[in-house]
Amino acid sequence: MDSRPNIAIAIDGPAGSGKSTVAKRVAEELGFLYIDTGAMYRAITLKALRAGVDLDDMDALGEVAATASVELVAGPDRSLKVLLDQEDVTEEIRSPYISRSVSLAAKVPEVRKRLVELQQAMAKQGGVVMEGRDIGTVVLPDAQIKIYLIASPGERSRRRLKELSAKGYQIDRRQMEAEILERDQLDTTRKMGPLTPAPDALTIDCTYLSIEKVVELIIDRVSAGG
Ligand code: C5P
Repeated sequence: MDSRPNIAIAIDGPAGSGKSTVAKRVAEELGFLYIDTGAMYRAITLKALRAGVDLDDMDALGEVAATASVELVAGPDRSLKVLLDQEDVTEEIRSPYISRSVSLAAKVPEVRKRLVELQQAMAKQGGVVMEGRDIGTVVLPDAQIKIYLIASPGERSRRRLKELSAKGYQIDRRQMEAEILERDQLDTTRKMGPLTPAPDALTIDCTYLSIEKVVELIIDRVSAGG
């Protein structure tokens, strides 16, 4: 029997703000399900690129999303596997060529509609920490806890470079910063589900805060009842 309480924690913020690390740790501490919605947009982007779909072709992207199966499966060590049409694409969706294209696929309304439906269905299981860009505003507007994480662009690109170099990618710091800012621009200005804090979200600036401190702040809020 699953005994997770029916609490949803929404964590939004731009690329490199620390969302994934924080969301994973909070989920671990509370024994909640961790849901990485960015991974779902990345999987759709991968499918589109493999099929040679033009990322300006909204209809074709909508069709890709409508026919794709995207699943997030928790492994025994609590790591999350991303399955695209039953294939494990966990590593491939993190590559820089997906990061550069994902915001184009994510602005397509049919893509968003389909993924938001899947995400809302997953959250019905209760006891979830869901991270993304539109979780507090669109996917889970009734979430009891809403967090909006920010950090300076310099710090965000430093974190992303560290993650990528650990995986063997060598990217110039300036190029990384430019890519992050371009993604912010696309994510904050799209018509549907733009990146923006929910009015009732707590904004936390993680530029100088440790991950542990941010996790502690969120857990305290959960303990205080929202
Ligand atoms: O979080 P991550 O960097 O993996 O997200 C990749 C991209 O997916 C974001 O830049 C954004 O374009 C898109 N995304 C989104 N809505 C979400 C999660 C991610 O549009 N809820």
